[in-house]
Amino acid sequence: MSDTKLHCGNCHIPVDFHDEVYLDELNTITHKKCGPGLFGVKDTGTFHEIISKYYLFKESLPLS
Ligand SMILES: [Zn+2]
Repeated sequence: MSDTKLHCGNCHIPVDFHDEVYLDELNTITHKKCGPGLFGVKDTGTFHEIISKYYLFKESLPLS
């Protein structure tokens, strides 16, 4: 499975690499279907794209 340890800020379900997500100004990830966080959308895309762009969440990820 490709689940990560990072949970959506709204529904608290683990975010999958292929899920469409929002990244807000506090670097909170939420599923697109759950709606954006409270602090303004900084970016959107698949979780994998966000990771690749910002390289923020590698501690949460089972990357080698
Ligand atoms: Zn969610």
